[in-house]
Amino acid sequence: MPNIHNCKQCGISLTNKYGNARHCSHACRSKTWRQLQTPTISVKLKLTIPQFDILKTQADSLNLLINQLIINRATSASGCVHP
Ligand SMILES: [Zn+2]
Repeated sequence: MPNIHNCKQCGISLTNKYGNARHCSHACRSKTWRQLQTPTISVKLKLTIPQFDILKTQADSLNLLINQLIINRATSASGCVHP
């Protein structure tokens, strides 16, 4: 019978754990969870103050953060950065 009960993170045997356990410890569970998160990168934007004010006003009116507004525009098929 193959031993399928190893920690998904460090590979240690989980023979003493519950049958549905996938990690040996909370630390390994947290580490795996972090690795599953979508990786992100930071981007610096250079805007003029009037451009920033326009975006800020629009973001506020939609109750979004400015970066959420920009991402929404950029990823929407009908989006247009210049209204
Ligand atoms: Zn582990």
